[in-house]
Amino acid sequence: MGQFAPRMSTIGFLGLGAIGAPMARHLPAHGFDLIVWNRTRERADQLASTVRARVARTPAEAAREADVVITCLPTSREVEGLLDGPDGLLAGLRSGATLVDCTSGDPATSRRIATRLGERGIAFVDAPVSGGKRGAEEGSLTVMCGGDAAVVERVRPVLAAFGKSIVHCGDVGAGDMVKAVNQALLAIHIWATGEGLATLAKAGVDARTALEVINASSGRSNTSMNLFPERVLSRAFPRTFRLALLDKDLRIAAEMSRAAGVPSPLTQLASELFRAARVELGEEADHVEAVRVIERSAGVEIGA
Ligand code: NDP
Repeated sequence: MGQFAPRMSTIGFLGLGAIGAPMARHLPAHGFDLIVWNRTRERADQLASTVRARVARTPAEAAREADVVITCLPTSREVEGLLDGPDGLLAGLRSGATLVDCTSGDPATSRRIATRLGERGIAFVDAPVSGGKRGAEEGSLTVMCGGDAAVVERVRPVLAAFGKSIVHCGDVGAGDMVKAVNQALLAIHIWATGEGLATLAKAGVDARTALEVINASSGRSNTSMNLFPERVLSRAFPRTFRLALLDKDLRIAAEMSRAAGVPSPLTQLASELFRAARVELGEEADHVEAVRVIERSAGVEIGA
């Protein structure tokens, strides 16, 4: 950072959900003053009872003193929805401040938000994260950034509080785009691993043995190495990342490919499958529970 670079001591954090809360918790320990806002206030109060943080009554109040405001909401639509009105972010954000959106957002909305903020001298970075709840708790997330390179460098120390790998992917929207493709790969791995193991289970092959082989072979993935042993074979299916949010990510990925004119049958199909799984399993189901849909159709439980 240059000698005259703006200081970044106060951070406003909005959206203390499954991933936002463990991310925000790291900031005070890294020397930042933290002001939090959450739609359901109890979650903000709960965080402030365990780490050094002030609770704001409105998004505007969370932004007023902040050098950097971080948002982590379900979709870009909710982020855009927080901008306006007397209590909105735009009423509080100062010229020279930066809005870092850690939502897994859609690139078109991120560009629209960036343009509106830019008119007021406020910078914008889309900065989706990967690594899950555990990565957030450990402070080891991957953060994929879209925006001006100098702005990304300026906010890097803030992102380093919860991120281990912080990568500048390109202009505004580039972080969202890389994240959407990552999520499409995750979904395809989950579905394909579920189909394969359901087939093997039905044929009488032990799922644990099959995974042991696959994980020492070329078909392995994070899904086969971590998600299936920890969540499917154990039948634990912890709720850490909602299937509804993965469905949202897949819609972004499918739309991106269509808009780019790239033939993308796998991504489009994954989007359809996860949309149907969301309808079947509901808004609170975890993403790995999509495997239950395969199991039900197959009449078999993997690892049972
Ligand atoms: P959750 O559903 O757990 O939390 C959503 C948060 O957004 C809550 O704080 C909720 O407030 C708030 N919110 C929802 N709607 C509104 C609204 N209209 N106005 C204001 N606030 C609102 O989501 P996650 O924390 O899991 O995910 C957040 C983002 O991070 C998503 O884009 C997701 O795809 C991404 N992500 C999630 C990961 C995970 O492992 N969970 C991993 C990587 C990325 P309230 O408390 O009032 O409901």
